[in-house]
Amino acid sequence: MSDYRDDRALQRLLDELGRLPGIGPKSAQRIAYFLLEADIETARRLSNAIIEVKQQVHFCPICFNYATREHCDVCDDVSRDRSVICVVSEPRDVSAIERTGSYHGLYHVLGGVISPMDKIGPEQLHVKELLSRLADNDVSEVILATNPDVEGETTATYLSRVIRPLGIDVSRLASGLPVGGDLEYADEVTLGRAIEARRTL
Ligand SMILES: [Zn+2]
Repeated sequence: MSDYRDDRALQRLLDELGRLPGIGPKSAQRIAYFLLEADIETARRLSNAIIEVKQQVHFCPICFNYATREHCDVCDDVSRDRSVICVVSEPRDVSAIERTGSYHGLYHVLGGVISPMDKIGPEQLHVKELLSRLADNDVSEVILATNPDVEGETTATYLSRVIRPLGIDVSRLASGLPVGGDLEYADEVTLGRAIEARRTL
């Protein structure tokens, strides 16, 4: 057996794991010891999966969702309703909405939300690209599905102000989602209902 008690190697692993979101020192230690005791193949599968995701996944040039081919699965899917675009802040929100099975249109991922405190305005988000999609395509409705918190509401208000003059219906997810909560943590039924019962702005 190799000398796995090389303190520096172990410490490096603990440091890297500790940088991951949601992983405190205790969890980092638990994962590190699991990997120390696992066979080399388990460790290799994990490290390969991390490298592969970094090498193969990029942003879809149309909607900025994650993609492994040129475009993402949603943009490539000819059965999707191209007259509706659902605007979300992060790619993980696309997964949350897809899980509900209640939505069959396209998406546009902003890459964040308007946050004056963090110096993030519309120019730092994919707003320009959204507006050019709306100019080029036969989109009749835009659903604003940013989180129901202060920044999400600010972003939705801004977008509705710039999109409505284009003659496109703008709607917002129905209330019922926990205020201040994240879309990705809403259960599928609640989120599905919020999409179906969306209100026109
Ligand atoms: Zn796409």
